[in-house]
Amino acid sequence: MNALELHSISKSYGAQKALENVSLSVPTGSRTVIVGPSGSGKTTLLRMIAGFEFPDSGYLSLNGQTLVDSTHEVPAHQRLIGYVPQDGALFPHMTVAANIGFGLATTGREKQERVAELMDSVALDSSMAQRWPHELSGGQQQRVALARALAQQPRLMLLDEPFSALDTGLRANMRKLVARLLAEAGVTTILVTHDQSEALSFADQLAVMRHGRLVQSGHPLDLYRYPEDEQTALFLGDAVVMPARIEAGWAHCDLGRIPVNNHRNNSAAQIMLRPEQLQLASALPDSAEVAGCRAVVTERDFSGNTCTLTVELQSSASGEDSGRSLLVRSSGMYAPPAGSAVHVSTIGHAHVLSEP
Ligand code: ADP
Ligand code: MG
Repeated sequence: MNALELHSISKSYGAQKALENVSLSVPTGSRTVIVGPSGSGKTTLLRMIAGFEFPDSGYLSLNGQTLVDSTHEVPAHQRLIGYVPQDGALFPHMTVAANIGFGLATTGREKQERVAELMDSVALDSSMAQRWPHELSGGQQQRVALARALAQQPRLMLLDEPFSALDTGLRANMRKLVARLLAEAGVTTILVTHDQSEALSFADQLAVMRHGRLVQSGHPLDLYRYPEDEQTALFLGDAVVMPARIEAGWAHCDLGRIPVNNHRNNSAAQIMLRPEQLQLASALPDSAEVAGCRAVVTERDFSGNTCTLTVELQSSASGEDSGRSLLVRSSGMYAPPAGSAVHVSTIGHAHVLSEP
């Protein structure tokens, strides 16, 4: 069952179109991530679901209840939706315990116990209960904001760039902690981020936004492998994009003949491969009859566990020098140095992109 349904939501601020015809279904219990560059309309969309903005047209419903349509609107405080805004927005004049307990209906001992339970669930030590927000790190503040939102036992949790203020190591840990916590609480979640690796790792449903439009949604692995167009491909990671002639399930390109997953016969098209689909071996003798292409490593970018190489293709299957440069992902320690002659072959299918 779908918890949340967005249907053709549009919103403008004056001449600025912030959202255009956005439709999305969020299944109950899912972790949906909306990813897009800054200014693509992510925050506007979350605020609309929470009830702080209203669409010019379209409607949205939660668990079958209409929240907004052309005739009525359910106000934010009646939606039972948890919302953690981008800056966490803790009450600065309240302690951690008071922040978390703010909306609880209970009092006295019962309230104290509930606050302690919530602190425990977001891995905050009980000794922090009497601290002020300014005495907490960014990660701790985010967890207080999350506990405060969870206290309301929301039907849906909205998180706006919750990890953006944290540094890399802490970020990955917080991401796992929050994912586990939300799964345990069984709360349907929508998380917004501009960070593609965060999006791919957190989501079981991913929706890509650009210029106020939702351009593609689906399982993260499917979007990574089968992006609709070049822009989406590049937004989700590094990509090798090159022209090809498509014929009977094969792409004929500078790398030779590669099977394609989506067929379009006899047409010229752009194909995409992820750099990790390219494999390097030592260059073989000229006469060798193998698929792939000879190349020279022109650049090596070492970043620890992986290495990104730039290789320049020497000769294509047709025997002509293409001079095309490609990115190849390789194990950091064993990558060939710049200047090495190599042979490039491919793994798996190439993906045919839609025309821009
Ligand atoms: P994101 O969260 O993806 O960075 P936003 O939803 O904040 O994007 O903004 C989408 C677009 O709408 C931007 O061009 C932004 O300038 C504009 N916008 C957002 N809120 C307002 C507002 N209250 N008034 C005018 N323009 C706004
Ligand atoms: Mg935003």
